Amino acid sequence: MNAPLIDPFARAITYLRVSVTDRCDFRCVYCMSENMTFLPKKELLTLEELDRLCSSFVDLGVRKLRITGGEPLVRKGIMTFFEAMSRHLDAGTLKELTLTTNGSQLERFAKPLFDAGVRRVNVSLDTLDEGKFADVTRWGRLPQVLRGIDAAQAAGLRVKLNAVALKGFNEDELPTITEWCAERDMDLTWIEVMPMGDLGNEDRLDQYWSLKDVRARYAEHYTVSDLAERTGGPARYVRLEETGQKIGFITPLSHNFCESCNRVRITCTGEIFMCLGQEDAADLRAPLRAHPTDDAPLQEAIRAAIARKPKGHDFDYSRQRADGQMPRHMSHTGG
Ligand code: SAM
Ligand code: SF4
Repeated sequence: MNAPLIDPFARAITYLRVSVTDRCDFRCVYCMSENMTFLPKKELLTLEELDRLCSSFVDLGVRKLRITGGEPLVRKGIMTFFEAMSRHLDAGTLKELTLTTNGSQLERFAKPLFDAGVRRVNVSLDTLDEGKFADVTRWGRLPQVLRGIDAAQAAGLRVKLNAVALKGFNEDELPTITEWCAERDMDLTWIEVMPMGDLGNEDRLDQYWSLKDVRARYAEHYTVSDLAERTGGPARYVRLEETGQKIGFITPLSHNFCESCNRVRITCTGEIFMCLGQEDAADLRAPLRAHPTDDAPLQEAIRAAIARKPKGHDFDYSRQRADGQMPRHMSHTGG
C-alpha cells in the first residue's frame, strides 16, 4: 500500500480533476474566445496515458475523480477511458467517478456513463432562455442540452446544475432557474466568474456578480439555512426550506477556503496545477512518456509536485484591477 499524498500543510489530496481535452463544441464568452487555436493532438495525453496517470493517483489515495475539459464528451473514445476507470470503482479504491459537462452530448452518453459507474454529473447551464443561451455559449443550442439533461435523469444519473453568476445576464433568472431545478429534483450551484483567459474581449469585472448578492436575493424569496457540508473545495451550501433544495455557492475569489483544500488539477497535456489560483505547475507527461511500463518515476513526480502545493491562492478582485489574473483558460486547466 502506497503512502497517501499529504501536502506540506497536512492536507490529504483525495480529489483529482482531470481535463481530457482543450476542445469544446461551445465557445462560452467567459471561457473561450471565438477563434480558439487548440493544441496539436500529440501534445494531449492519450487515453492510455490518462488511464496510467489517474490509476497512479488512485494508488496514491485519490478517492474522487472528476473528468472535465474543454468538453470531456467531445474527446474521441472517451467512453473507453470511463469504462477503464470503473475497475477502480469495482475494487472500492475509487469512491466516485464523475464529470462536468456542458450537456450537449449527454443524450448519447448518459446511459454508457451510468453503466461505467458514474452516478452524478454536473451540467453547466447559465440560462433557460434560448436566445441568451445562444449568446453566452456562442455555438450552443439549448434544446440539445435540455434533452441531454432529460437523458441523464432517465439513465439514473443525479444531475447538478452549475450556473456562472453574470451580472445583467442571468440575475433576473434566479427564481426561474431555481424553480426549474426544484421541479426536476436537481441541486444548483452558482459560480463566481473568474478572471481566466483573455480579459481583452469580455470585461469580467463588469460581469462580476458577487455571490453574497446572490445569497441575499435568495433570502428575499426563501428561508435560507446554512449547511455544514464541506467538500474540501471553495463551495458552500445552503438549504431553501420551502423547496428543500440545496444551493451551492462557489466563491474562489471573494472567499478563501484554502485551508481545507483536498484537490489538484491536471491539464489535458499532463501538467499538474497544485492550486487553481497559482501558476506553479509540474509536468507529469515527461515521466509518463519516458517510462511507458514503469509508474514509479511518475509517482515520484506526483509526490514532488504535491510537496510544492501552496498554502493558498492569489486571486484578488478587491483592488478592482487585474491582480491575480490568470493567463490560462479554464478549458485548459479544467473548471
Ligand atoms: N465544458 C464543460 C462545462 O462547461 O461544464 C467542462 C469544462 S468548463 C471549463 C467547467 C466549468 O467552468 C463550467 O461550469 C464553466 O461554466 C466554468 N467556467 C468557465 N470559465 C469560467 C470563468 N471565467 N469563471 C467561472 N467559471 C468558469
Ligand atoms: Fe466549453 Fe465548458 Fe468552456 Fe463553455 S465553459 S466553452 S462549454 S469548456
